[in-house]
Amino acid sequence: MLGQMMQGHLLISTLIDHAGTYHGATEITSVETNGTVTRSNWGEVHHNSKKLASALTKMGLAPSARCATIAWNNRRHLEIYFGVSGGQFVCHTINPRLFPEQLVYIVNHAEDEVIFIDATFLPLVAALKDKMPTLKAIVLMGARDEAALESIPELQFYDELIETGDDDNTWPDFDENTASSLCYTSGTTGNPKGVLFSHRSTMLHSFAAALPDCIGFSARDIILPVVPMFHVNAWGTPYAAAMVGAQLVMPGPGLDGSSLLKLIDAEKVNIALGVPTIWQGLLMAAKETGSTLESLQRTVVGGSACPPSMIDTFRDDYNVDLVHAWGMTEMSPLGTSNQPLAKHAKLSVEAQNKLRENQGRPPYGMQLKIVDDAGNELPNDDTAQGDLLVRGPWVMSGYFRPEKDDGLRDGWFDTGDVARIDEDGYMTICDRSKDIIKSGGEWISSVELENIAVAHPDLLEAAVIGAAHPKWDERPILVAVKAIGADPKPEDLIAFFDGKIASWQKPDMVVFTDTLPRNATGKVLKRNLREEFGQVLMG
Ligand code: ADP
Repeated sequence: MLGQMMQGHLLISTLIDHAGTYHGATEITSVETNGTVTRSNWGEVHHNSKKLASALTKMGLAPSARCATIAWNNRRHLEIYFGVSGGQFVCHTINPRLFPEQLVYIVNHAEDEVIFIDATFLPLVAALKDKMPTLKAIVLMGARDEAALESIPELQFYDELIETGDDDNTWPDFDENTASSLCYTSGTTGNPKGVLFSHRSTMLHSFAAALPDCIGFSARDIILPVVPMFHVNAWGTPYAAAMVGAQLVMPGPGLDGSSLLKLIDAEKVNIALGVPTIWQGLLMAAKETGSTLESLQRTVVGGSACPPSMIDTFRDDYNVDLVHAWGMTEMSPLGTSNQPLAKHAKLSVEAQNKLRENQGRPPYGMQLKIVDDAGNELPNDDTAQGDLLVRGPWVMSGYFRPEKDDGLRDGWFDTGDVARIDEDGYMTICDRSKDIIKSGGEWISSVELENIAVAHPDLLEAAVIGAAHPKWDERPILVAVKAIGADPKPEDLIAFFDGKIASWQKPDMVVFTDTLPRNATGKVLKRNLREEFGQVLMG
């Protein structure tokens, strides 16, 4: 017997309809590319996104045409998210920090037909556009700008383009499994790989993100997504914010600590999301200016491991709850987030704090398991480490137009991470499988060593890699960046690990470097470090 309930496709257009109808006056603050602040609201985003969808249809785009963006987090980008997907096209966000060859590869691989760009990226696109033959329109995200026409004569202007759309446009209705957006992984090895999200997967991910035990968004929040809209859809924040009618503060190009600090204080932001390096900058700026980050209640940190010392600083010095989250492009991206259970309230404060350090537990919908090399499932005992596999309705079922077969493992997606899981489902990422250090048959987590090292006051940044070793195959070495004005001795840095881990896990050597190489999303390129320092123990 079937239930007797109404049917409705889970479409991204319904999110913006909801936000526009019931939260129309809720403000969207946007730092424009030239640094000025504009104030819009969900009502205006709703109106403009519908007009954009109509304008793109009139341009002659067929359903599922890919429309790319190379842009900062701002109000027009938000309108494009909803207008493109809602109009049954595919919103393809591109990371501007990719190498130009990778960017060209991605646009051609996706066969993008329209590209929306912020003024910052005019020179980049002007230099590359002849290598991107599928493009029919290049749209500058702003008002008409005669000077810009000198670099790209065929350039169109966003504010003019939406005026060609109908005011009374209605959204198309279609299957919720239709593609909605496209995002390429940073591709540290080989070509970038595309992940094609659907309306349904995006909607279910939004419901999960908004749950109080996941990120927890509500209509009373003022949210600052520092995580870029080109980094897995700003972790889904624009969609989840529309779902609950939260206020958004879009930071534009100024992602340094002092710009973010001013914005948080001026706009009374209470939730901010970003990668650890961003928060390092913010904490330094807060220390310098003496700001108490008064409005801020919660930061959500993911993308790479969040050092426990950062969680402590936010909590003890600023009364900010740091929620450590984990995920990846292939998972839309949310896989786990660290929020406590009721039973934890009985523990000592120290024990409660300790439990907040790992990457957390999955929300409803996400399933995790760890397996050994033969694929046998390992116990959730917080000790066994294995390859982390996931499945759920917002996990990718295969890459977009793959170069080679990238099939799942018996219906599970292999994350490439090595993890352990406890009996409540709290997961600790030990490493990327290619970064874990294999010392004489034992595994050493580089993440664990890094977390200890960065708490040393004389270090700005630290990475741990496995260096080739004649006896043990690999041994950990610490690649360290000194804090400004500090000059720590290697032996003191190594002694800093005493009592914090087993002595055989301590790094064998410290090498100093000026900066750590990072990829386009801010992750340390360990491969480069291994090339540079991987042989230092071979004598
Ligand atoms: P890419 O796969 O292109 O590097 P993603 O942003 O999708 O880009 O990165 C996913 C990877 O980032 C994860 O597989 C994991 O290794 C790492 N990661 C993300 N969040 C965390 C975290 N909180 N702690 C440790 N590693 C993390």
